Amino acid sequence: MPSNCNKCKNNITRLDNDKINCTNCEMMFHTRCVNLPDVNINKDIWKCENCVIKVKSKEPILDEILKELRLLKSEHAEVQKSLNLCYEKIEDCNLILKKQEQTLVEHLERIELLETNNSTLRKENLELKRQINDLEQYSRTNCVEISGVPEFKDENTMSVVQAAGTALGLNLDSYTIDTCHRLKKNFNNQPRNIIVKFVRRLDKEEFLRCRRIKRNLSNYMLDP
Ligand SMILES: [Zn+2]
Ligand SMILES: [Zn+2]
Repeated sequence: MPSNCNKCKNNITRLDNDKINCTNCEMMFHTRCVNLPDVNINKDIWKCENCVIKVKSKEPILDEILKELRLLKSEHAEVQKSLNLCYEKIEDCNLILKKQEQTLVEHLERIELLETNNSTLRKENLELKRQINDLEQYSRTNCVEISGVPEFKDENTMSVVQAAGTALGLNLDSYTIDTCHRLKKNFNNQPRNIIVKFVRRLDKEEFLRCRRIKRNLSNYMLDP
């Protein structure tokens, strides 16, 4: 296939000895057109004028690129280092999160247990209150509160109550009375009331009946 010289644009025949190819761009030239002497030309490394200029102009760019590459490499190393630090921190955070999650689960379990216990205790408390109320109601049925009985130092409350019984014509002894004692301090310096708990409700009713008959019982005022 016939080619043209890239300089003079004239035909270069296959048999033409006066021809050379650029090893870079592969374009064909007459040797006379590119000012080459006939001898001592290494045709394996020859480059045309354009390619020589291009290569020369590329050299500084290559240097720049290499510099940039080195810079990028060092920056990449820095970034990698930072990333590794971030991974470590994320790992630490994950560990903390897991611990907190476990603590939260434990606390929730404790709260659940406490709620169950609280509910049980509330039920028991209600039941106990009901029982105490019943007991109070029941024990109150056998009690009488006596007011206005003069109070003496080191007195025997049982003897005082027995004296009141005698005044009413009743024999009150340890079989009739379960217990008796003064209540808390009255206001306005009045003697403290006495609470008497009878063993049997019938004895209490008898005591109150006699008290109603003898309303003029001196100094004594009896409250059922
Ligand atoms: Zn030519
Ligand atoms: Zn060339």
